[in-house]
Amino acid sequence: MSTYPGSALLLSAAHARHFPPDLGAEVAFAGRSNAGKSSAINAITGRKALARISKTPGRTRLLNFFELLPGCRIVDLPGYGYAAASAAERATWAPMTTALARRQSLRGLFLIVDSRRGLLEGDDGLLAWAAEAGCPVHVLLTKTDKLKRAELAQAMAAAHQALEGHATVQAFSAVDGTGLEEARRQLKQWYK
Ligand code: GDP
Repeated sequence: MSTYPGSALLLSAAHARHFPPDLGAEVAFAGRSNAGKSSAINAITGRKALARISKTPGRTRLLNFFELLPGCRIVDLPGYGYAAASAAERATWAPMTTALARRQSLRGLFLIVDSRRGLLEGDDGLLAWAAEAGCPVHVLLTKTDKLKRAELAQAMAAAHQALEGHATVQAFSAVDGTGLEEARRQLKQWYK
């Protein structure tokens, strides 16, 4: 299954006017801080340190656009869930996410959820955003290498129940590679 060795940061946007032209296909990644979003992006693209860029000083609060192939992008949204984001920061995100939802290029959202914690406050906001945008959602239940088989079954069942059919769900581990090919297939499908 293809990786994306040519992936690179395209730009970091602090405002919707900085977004790249609305051409081609774009897939968003969002999740609570520490859920494993950067690790998932790195694993899926096959670029070990790609999403580390999003964590460098000055970039954690921006929308980071990566180009995987010509016309095929990932948009890495700021992690949420910590009270650290100021009202001012949230006020800049809201118009950006609104603008992102309106883009023709937007094909799907990977919602990154720590399998040990399940869907939490903040995740519902992203689900509502995607529903409003008519954007399909695929949930990656991450860090499943830390779960026993029965715990994973329980986490999957809880996620399915919480999502009420509004998103697809899969197990994922950046550490042992669980679900990696499935996630890559989903991305490729959205890029078609
Ligand atoms: P982000 O804040 O959502 O981008 O999360 P990171 O990708 O930086 O991961 C947060 C922490 O979880 C780091 O310490 C990672 O090493 C760890 N982590 C991420 N993915 C996995 C995984 O699949 N398995 C395990 N065991 N740890 C992981």
